Amino acid sequence: MRRWLLVLWLFVSITYGLSSYFLVHYKIQKNDTLYSISLDFGVSPSLILDWNPGLTPWNLKVGQIIIIPQPPGYMYTVQKGDNLDIIAKRFFTTPVLIKEANHLTSDIIYVGQKLFIPESAIGKAFNDEKFFIWPVYGTISSGYGWRIHPITGKYSFHSGIDIAAPTGTPIFAAESGIVEFAGVNGGYGLMVKIKSSSYEHVYGHLSQIDVYEGQYVKKGQLIGRVGSTGLSTGPHLHFEIRVREKAVNPLNYLPSKIWVLKKELVGAGGE
Ligand SMILES: [Zn+2]
Repeated sequence: MRRWLLVLWLFVSITYGLSSYFLVHYKIQKNDTLYSISLDFGVSPSLILDWNPGLTPWNLKVGQIIIIPQPPGYMYTVQKGDNLDIIAKRFFTTPVLIKEANHLTSDIIYVGQKLFIPESAIGKAFNDEKFFIWPVYGTISSGYGWRIHPITGKYSFHSGIDIAAPTGTPIFAAESGIVEFAGVNGGYGLMVKIKSSSYEHVYGHLSQIDVYEGQYVKKGQLIGRVGSTGLSTGPHLHFEIRVREKAVNPLNYLPSKIWVLKKELVGAGGE
């Protein structure tokens, strides 16, 4: 199956010479599961969920068409204020790799433009100086601790940090673990909770969830997209780290800098 796809990819690439990827429109067959499809196409279950919003391991329908990119990669729609450098940071990669993948000959991009980010390019610049990595690249808009709640106006405890980033920004697992919860949870909106050895980590207000309960996810794996679901004033990620279900200040567990290139990429840009 995979070899056949590779031949088709080469054919399409040579024929059109413009695109570094193609989208398979796959019709779901009897006895297919999300996992079997992911094995057949050499992509992760989460990648299939990201490309097919609303799909879960339990709602596959025979005859349904789903989209699977080859090679594995993610789509990003350019938002207002974006430039290649910022987008590269959001995927913890480099502008050069994004330009290559999209055959861009200049740095000019436009709002609404769709950029393909190959999975192989993602995470090249994760900062792994600590146990956890930053789940998104963005601006901390609200810290951990007591505060006046921006919506209720009440003095209340903020059990995590808010990282502002545009809708659609990828969210990466801050540490490996098992997905304990994936779904709607009151004020948290669309929420993912992952259990790692002695920690739980929570991701709130997502626009899209790309994992399912019981799934094992690796540190740095794309688990969903930033949104503004639940009790939220705008697109951001609410991120919590808990120790035996007690929320702690995530800043004590995250690298001091959100963007530090790994050694082999020093010089490619970034702070
Ligand atoms: Zn929050």
